[in-house]
Amino acid sequence: MKEVCFCGSVDDLENREPVLDRDGEQALQCSSCGHLDYLSWLPNDIRLLILAEADERNPGSAGYAGERAA
Ligand SMILES: [Zn+2]
Repeated sequence: MKEVCFCGSVDDLENREPVLDRDGEQALQCSSCGHLDYLSWLPNDIRLLILAEADERNPGSAGYAGERAA
């Protein structure tokens, strides 16, 4: 699923890095500007699928399954 970030970066949502914010909310981070997209505009089941796919594509990331100190 291609998405355009407000910074102008166009990428597959699944290629963005899955992160957890301070409140433990799952989000995908734009690799260009660091903007967090909470995917709140997606139906929850689609949102979870994309977050899982993003986690698979980013094995080195903190992931949405568990927060680690940077
Ligand atoms: Zn961006």
